[in-house]
Amino acid sequence: MDPRDTLRPEVLEFTPYTPGLSIDEIRERHGLTSVIKLASNENPLGTSPLVQRVLSRRAEAAFRYPQSGNPRLVRAIADFHGVPAKCVVPGNGSDEIIDLLLRVKARPGVDNVVAFEPCFSIYRLQAKLCGVELRQARLGGDFRFPFEDLLALCDDNTALVFVTNPDNPSGHSVKAAELALLARSLPKRALLVVDEAYVEFAEPEEEYSVMGRLESLPNVVVLRTFSKLYGLAGLRLGFGVMPEWLADLLLRVRLPFSVNLLAEAAGLAALEDLHFRQATLETVRRGRAYLVEELTRLGCKVYPSQANFLLFTPPADAREVFEALLAKGIIIRPLASYGMPGNLRVSVGSQPENEAFIKAFEEVLASRG
Ligand code: PMP
Repeated sequence: MDPRDTLRPEVLEFTPYTPGLSIDEIRERHGLTSVIKLASNENPLGTSPLVQRVLSRRAEAAFRYPQSGNPRLVRAIADFHGVPAKCVVPGNGSDEIIDLLLRVKARPGVDNVVAFEPCFSIYRLQAKLCGVELRQARLGGDFRFPFEDLLALCDDNTALVFVTNPDNPSGHSVKAAELALLARSLPKRALLVVDEAYVEFAEPEEEYSVMGRLESLPNVVVLRTFSKLYGLAGLRLGFGVMPEWLADLLLRVRLPFSVNLLAEAAGLAALEDLHFRQATLETVRRGRAYLVEELTRLGCKVYPSQANFLLFTPPADAREVFEALLAKGIIIRPLASYGMPGNLRVSVGSQPENEAFIKAFEEVLASRG
């Protein structure tokens, strides 16, 4: 008997995760000296100088295990957001929290989870790995959220309902009041998971985020990440804020050191670096307005976005535009894998990056006549 004869069938359906193309790949493929990556919604200002100093200082401690449960970081996150520390679960990116929620709350082969179609790939992949059915409702026109369609898919076995606000890849957002209404309409067992990976970029954040309303919403979980506004994507740090009973369960099953020592130190420093935070917000909001104006001028349909990226329909074949930009050293995101082959997504970069992207895009369109 071969050990491969008895694998879990869902595992065989997985293919390796394919993130956007790397800068080095494109540099080599097209013989370029400089490449600009606007494909993964990373921070346009890079890594905060304060975080860099803290990381250098803490490097000598890398031989130590971190403190189990990351209590200092949990306390800092709780204070920053005005929520009880017992409700905060830090993770190896918010990806880990999504995985933990599914494994703790959804019963394999019995429960279902509900999300829009298309949705962030990790909801789908981890649900599959957990043996939990994913039910999806199509997004509406202009990528609006038809909540009534989500509700129609829910039943007594619905464990989790995922809503990404602002949404990825569209940037579409709804006000927190609408999400509160949705939470109150769910079946009793279901939890609403509001993925706020990009909410800090919304204007004003408080009107869009449910973080300030959690006390009155006992069936809501909020997900946040340090990968975007705080520029720590490579260190992997995110967290969830959730009812205390659920946080307790996640912390019991979480691998003890999934948030490593340097990620913890960087997270603490990032929360203190208000200057970097503010500079990032200003860069993104200004850059977003600039890109909306320029892409519109170039004949694109640009969808309203409260995130640090824009979804647009170019006035030419999206795949060809994407490839032509690559040859010029600009990496953006094609959306065929989201079932949107006619659209492209571009992350808001620094102003020089945004201008280089627009210049290259204008050349691409001109060369097509
Ligand atoms: N949710 C959404 C909607 C995202 O786009 C991302 C990042 N790609 C994440 C969660 C995961 O963030 P993290 O890097 O913290 O795992």
